[in-house]
Amino acid sequence: MNMRSIGLIGGLSWESTALYYQTINREVGRRLGGLRSASITIHSLDFEPISALQKAGDWAAMAGLMGRAGRRLAEGGAQCVLIGSNTMHRVADAVQAEAGIPLLHIADALAAAILATPVRTVGLLGTRMTMELPFYVEHLARHGIRCITPDEAQREAIHRIIFGELFLGQVRPASRERLAAIVDSLVQRGAQGMVLGCTELPMIVRPEDSPVPLFDTTRLHALAAVDFSLQDMAHAVPAQA
Ligand code: GLU
Repeated sequence: MNMRSIGLIGGLSWESTALYYQTINREVGRRLGGLRSASITIHSLDFEPISALQKAGDWAAMAGLMGRAGRRLAEGGAQCVLIGSNTMHRVADAVQAEAGIPLLHIADALAAAILATPVRTVGLLGTRMTMELPFYVEHLARHGIRCITPDEAQREAIHRIIFGELFLGQVRPASRERLAAIVDSLVQRGAQGMVLGCTELPMIVRPEDSPVPLFDTTRLHALAAVDFSLQDMAHAVPAQA
């Protein structure tokens, strides 16, 4: 059997899409050997208009735009769809309905990784929308995982670092220190693990910046896509823990 083709809605931001692309291809190569690389189609969106819709809170328009991207991936032969952003999973149901192919949900990949460890209470770092709207925290709660979210000033700082720096490819030591201090405060409040719940955060937060295990949603989501893609290939090397 062949690899199944992966469809990725990217550009959310393109910096994190590059991480997805690299992780997916490296993992396919690792599991299959030789010169194997992924069968993947990326539909990369321009983020500026999406940013305007996010600021306006126009989730219906975002659902339409993301749904069309998912449908185009399916029409192009993709056999699953990934949304390369935690925030935009707010419209995951609409994308799933419009694309008509399996949507691999980022929070399901995350929950599976957390549940494979003793961790049940996590700190959640992400955009304001991911930290403040109920969709993400409730999705994890349905898996039996409790989230501790940063306070208002911390949420403001994380959001600013994501959109003002990481989106532009800037990784500043002062911001890394600020994020590490936020991680520490969430651990003080009871977090046993830390969720990098924004696909740009692995650009800046490293395992050594956290006293508790990090759960990198970009990597976990990318590996879930590889699992799906290689599912029918009996000789593929299994995923590592
Ligand atoms: N990549 C980010 C995330 O994972 C933020 C971009 C967006 O708002 O879609 O949430």
